[in-house]
Amino acid sequence: MREADFVIIGSGSAGAALAYRLSEDGKNSVIVIEYGGSDFGPFIQMPAALSFPMNMARYDWGFESEPEPHLGGRVLATPRGKVIGGSSSINGMVFVRGHARDFDHWADEGATGWASADVLPYFKRMETMADGETGWRGTDGPLHVRKGPRDNPLFSAFIEAGRQAGFETTEDYNGSKQEGFGALQQTIHKGRRWSTANAYLKPALKRENVSLVNGFARRIVMENQRAIGVEIESHKKIQLVKARREVIVAASSINSPKLLMLSGIGPAKHLRENDIDVVADRPGVGSNLQDHLELYIQQESLQPITLYSKLNLLSKGLIGAQWLFLKSGLGTSNHFEAGAFVRSAAGVDYPDIQFHFLPVAIRYDGKAAAKGHGFQAHVGPMRSKSRGTIRLRSGDAWEKPEIRFNYMSHPDDWRDFRHCIRLTREIFSQDAFTPYRGREIAPGETVQSDEELDAFIREHAESAYHLWHLPYGCA
Ligand SMILES: Cc1cc2nc3c(=O)[nH]c(=O)nc-3n(C[C@H](O)[C@H](O)[C@H](O)COP(=O)(O)OP(=O)(O)OC[C@H]3O[C@@H](n4cnc5c(N)ncnc54)[C@H](O)[C@@H]3O)c2cc1C
Repeated sequence: MREADFVIIGSGSAGAALAYRLSEDGKNSVIVIEYGGSDFGPFIQMPAALSFPMNMARYDWGFESEPEPHLGGRVLATPRGKVIGGSSSINGMVFVRGHARDFDHWADEGATGWASADVLPYFKRMETMADGETGWRGTDGPLHVRKGPRDNPLFSAFIEAGRQAGFETTEDYNGSKQEGFGALQQTIHKGRRWSTANAYLKPALKRENVSLVNGFARRIVMENQRAIGVEIESHKKIQLVKARREVIVAASSINSPKLLMLSGIGPAKHLRENDIDVVADRPGVGSNLQDHLELYIQQESLQPITLYSKLNLLSKGLIGAQWLFLKSGLGTSNHFEAGAFVRSAAGVDYPDIQFHFLPVAIRYDGKAAAKGHGFQAHVGPMRSKSRGTIRLRSGDAWEKPEIRFNYMSHPDDWRDFRHCIRLTREIFSQDAFTPYRGREIAPGETVQSDEELDAFIREHAESAYHLWHLPYGCA
């Protein structure tokens, strides 16, 4: 049996940061339980390789949604990191704090302590950002954030096109002004993915009061309504990791609610249906699931300046070698280097549409690329009203949970997505893109009417992999 003051399940974005902070003053001991393994090697550490780990069973839990009723029954891949650093080791590395109004809204709805003024000091303490807005950004935190190099002229074309279309620009969307077109920021440092494993976990593990236990958490052990430890399976043995003070569940927006429900904390009826003793009837657990859904709007490039010419094996090998030996070159970026946050209409309080621009036409997961030079904008609404659930299939801890997003289940989603497509077309049609703009690849010039756009959305909308839950009842 092992024991610590704090036992954290999961070494991902949340778990690694908590391990670092809770152990900082040396007064408490911390055990981090993590099922995934090492993050060593280029698939994770080389930013440009980002589409690999999200497809690898070694690094990804391999979840998928139930057939989505409003997306023609499609089953969507729902990657979550299974490696130290969790999803921060397999994600897109685009660093976005979130809009101050979101935090204020959640605080108004009852999330006390989460207003923008409450969280700003923590955001600042978290990061080192060299060229951010003075007073708003941190300069000596563990998480290194940078603006991408933007060497490809298509990045400035995108920002300029946004300006020409009548939108604002912003120098630092994580500062006082999120709204506008500008350079995207990346969690990349010295050419490497700056995951929370690199930023927080590895430094924390150098302290004597922190240890990492490799194992699969099966449930939180409860005694008299109190969490006293975690039951794990490690090397085919069931063990108890005991918590003197707290058990912290940081196992992701999928596995955290799953673990709570397996431990008797969740909607009572659902727990009983799965033969789980109810410790606390909490209907909010696994409910109010949300995500950012997005589309890739793809355009042919007339000039051979896109990353298409680097998708062949030889180029990939050369990029990999340059990264390996010099930590320089195209391997050091995620290539999301320009983007935007805009409002969909007059009267909308703050940005509700996000754009990520890529100088290549390709799926986010790398599974299909256009057959020539192209570029694309990932676009989608940020405040969809659709809500989903995470539920157990059984009381077996090893069984994958049932994930239902109910994407596009609110009628406003359709209006918003059509607007996103039309808006992106308007941006791509600006003068700034005239030297580059060829034919539209996707949706394609013939797709114009509401019905045609809806069919495209139904068939092609994909998760941006940002799933989260808000407290029950919180809109
Ligand atoms: C492919 C992809 C791309 C993304 N792109 C971006 C992006 O560009 N920008 C952005 O801001 N966000 C992005 N996100 C979202 C972001 O990475 C996540 O929101 C964030 O990392 C979640 O942090 P977390 O601590 O909640 O969970 P995670 O980071 O997923 O950590 C959970 C950890 O718990 C471990 N764990 C789970 N269950 C158990 C168990 N039973 N026993 C032991 N260990 C367990 C997991 O292995 C994992 O290490 C992306 C996510 C993905 C998957």
